[in-house]
Amino acid sequence: MKCRVCGKPANINLRSYKTSLCEDDFIAFLEKRVSTTIKKYRLIDETDTPIVAVSGGKDSLSLWYMMNGLGYASDGIYVDLGIEGYSGRSLEKIRQMADILQRKVYIFHVRNALQEGIDSVAKVIRRPTCSACGTIKRYIMNRICIDKGYTVLVTGHNLDDEASALFGNVLYWKKEYLWKKNVVLEGKEDHLVKKIKPFFLCSEREIAAYAIMKGIDYIYEECPFSKDAKTLVYKGILNRIEESSPGTKIMFVKGYLNVVKEKGDEKEGDREGRYCLQCGYPTFSDKCSFCRLLDKFGTGCSVEFDQYG
Ligand SMILES: [Zn+2]
Ligand SMILES: [Zn+2]
Repeated sequence: MKCRVCGKPANINLRSYKTSLCEDDFIAFLEKRVSTTIKKYRLIDETDTPIVAVSGGKDSLSLWYMMNGLGYASDGIYVDLGIEGYSGRSLEKIRQMADILQRKVYIFHVRNALQEGIDSVAKVIRRPTCSACGTIKRYIMNRICIDKGYTVLVTGHNLDDEASALFGNVLYWKKEYLWKKNVVLEGKEDHLVKKIKPFFLCSEREIAAYAIMKGIDYIYEECPFSKDAKTLVYKGILNRIEESSPGTKIMFVKGYLNVVKEKGDEKEGDREGRYCLQCGYPTFSDKCSFCRLLDKFGTGCSVEFDQYG
């Protein structure tokens, strides 16, 4: 197996692109795809100040590393869920990367704010752990961006995440979510930060290979609460389809993006923008879900975070 670009021995075979590449050419190939995604979908412009949501895993740390390498200087945000062992080890990897990149990272500790880790928080509000985690992360990350003046929140969702979520939405025809996925979710000035996913068209396998080739030190273990069984089943099914028909996954997701783009023109009026009476951030009712969560803990609406670097 030889590299299609330089003819040296190849390190990776990409069946969906019918190509094999050596380490250097693979890195260039993947970085090119990310910078093309950023430009094609207008994810970031020169006046933007991006910040990357980091978890310590391969996707977010590779993205943070790559963004800075491509000239999109970005700081990081980490929400420490207070999970025994796991959260501390994740933070360790993040600090290490912050040092390498010479960038800042904002850290929100769930335990400092609520005196409990995420599992106890979820029990108090009687919600599944991942749902409580989602509420807190969405709110805190948006809040840090707005408070600190970052204009784009960058997340590490990859092709496999998007394809499996899309697959699940189609299987159950979840109309309320079906057309909401995109490489970019526009924000609202002063209240809601724009969100982007530059790895939308990069597979988990490609990102893992990139992380290894670049010597990125990330946390291998998965969050003990994350990955609901269904997502893993969908990923497995899509991988089997990919195995027999290489390129299907990327076609599925790219085709979806094209339909979303067409639909964009016939978009029905945005759902009414309402603001939380307590904190002033976007919500669907009088009080946002984060403030309702805080109420259960009686800590009031104060959000404080640490800064490293
Ligand atoms: Zn090569
Ligand atoms: Zn609120």
